[in-house]
Amino acid sequence: MRSIHLPWAIGLVLFTLLTGCTGDVKESASIQAQGRLGFAPLEDDKPELDAHQQQAQRFGFNPSANLKVESGEVGKGQSLSHILSPRGVSTQTLHHIATEERELFDVRRMRAGKEWHLFRSADDDLPKHFAYAISDREYVVFNLGDQGGGWAGAFPSETRREYAEGAIEGSLYLALERAGHSPNLALAMSQVYAWTIDFSRIQAGDNFRILYERDWIDDNPVGMPRILAAEFVHRGRNFPAFLFDQGEGPDHFDETGASLRKAFLKAPVEFSRISSRFNKKRFHPVLKKVKAHLGTDYAAPHGTPIIAVGDGIVTKASYTKGNGKYVKIRHNGTYTTQYLHMSRRNVKEGQAVRQGDVIGYVGSTGLATGPHVCFRFWKNDQQVDHLREEFPPSTPIKEEEKARYADAVATWLNEMAQRSSGSTPQLAFDTP
Ligand SMILES: [Zn+2]
Repeated sequence: MRSIHLPWAIGLVLFTLLTGCTGDVKESASIQAQGRLGFAPLEDDKPELDAHQQQAQRFGFNPSANLKVESGEVGKGQSLSHILSPRGVSTQTLHHIATEERELFDVRRMRAGKEWHLFRSADDDLPKHFAYAISDREYVVFNLGDQGGGWAGAFPSETRREYAEGAIEGSLYLALERAGHSPNLALAMSQVYAWTIDFSRIQAGDNFRILYERDWIDDNPVGMPRILAAEFVHRGRNFPAFLFDQGEGPDHFDETGASLRKAFLKAPVEFSRISSRFNKKRFHPVLKKVKAHLGTDYAAPHGTPIIAVGDGIVTKASYTKGNGKYVKIRHNGTYTTQYLHMSRRNVKEGQAVRQGDVIGYVGSTGLATGPHVCFRFWKNDQQVDHLREEFPPSTPIKEEEKARYADAVATWLNEMAQRSSGSTPQLAFDTP
């Protein structure tokens, strides 16, 4: 039954994941997908390519083109003319590339350490094309003949499906490293679970299973791993995550079809009005001088409940002369919020709070002219104006997508079960 849905699920995920990638990637990925589905890719019976032909093929030439290649790396302070003038390329051609072909690639952006290749005609030894690797993924080729021009392209890549599992002893990073996976996988996991699990606080006994894919070019992984499905057992509870695109871009959802990204509440007090916005050059009403206001003030009557805008851990419930009584909440590895000038605090340091919990009451302790909450918002340790932050939508799986989602989840779980060594304990959850 499930195998009927397999082509669809893989096709969907590959399609959604690769949107925005190059045709090369799509093509090789679909070949791989076919391989996975039992249609083995055709073994090519072409003759082995020599080193020159292999380079030619990497940069989009027909390998049978009669070219020979000289390769190097851009040296420190080297420009295009440093490389090509001594190799018989005329000043006019170099000038043409630097000016007329700037749309294709601005050669002033060439960087030390990047590879270059000079392709010559094997017949007359004349320099024909100059290729430069812009990044791990992209290159540009300039024609060196009178006609000019050239092309930009992406190196042929393939997408490989990989699986990781393990138990936490120290950190997720260490657990993955020990199992031979890239540190980027820990980063990708922390992004998927940013709203659910604080990876700086995971504990021994937590465990995980991850099905992911990465793009590979010339046997080197490039870019970030994409997590297709994961289960993270944290404090005895399983937190599954599944990648799905319901038309709003790929996102991770849980077993109920809820997005793993949770929205913050818009404001920490209901029925309030904004009395002062985030402003780096505000004239301070009490201090009577220009002082950055790195928060948003919500004026509300004395004693109005102040609520946590998201789930988190109280890292501070304290008092300073300026802040008055205040509470600080760490939501995840990215976001922290703080609530100042409380008349009374309602939480203790170290306490876990849920979104909407009352953490204190409006007051005017500290430097305040009247009852209000000064609400402060940190993103990656920088204070930002939360009203200007774009929080991506976190729509749950739509009714009409639920059947497709359930099929996709069944496919991922099936694949993880097949790859699992059985060494990590499984915690059941209701599948959608
Ligand atoms: Zn304020």
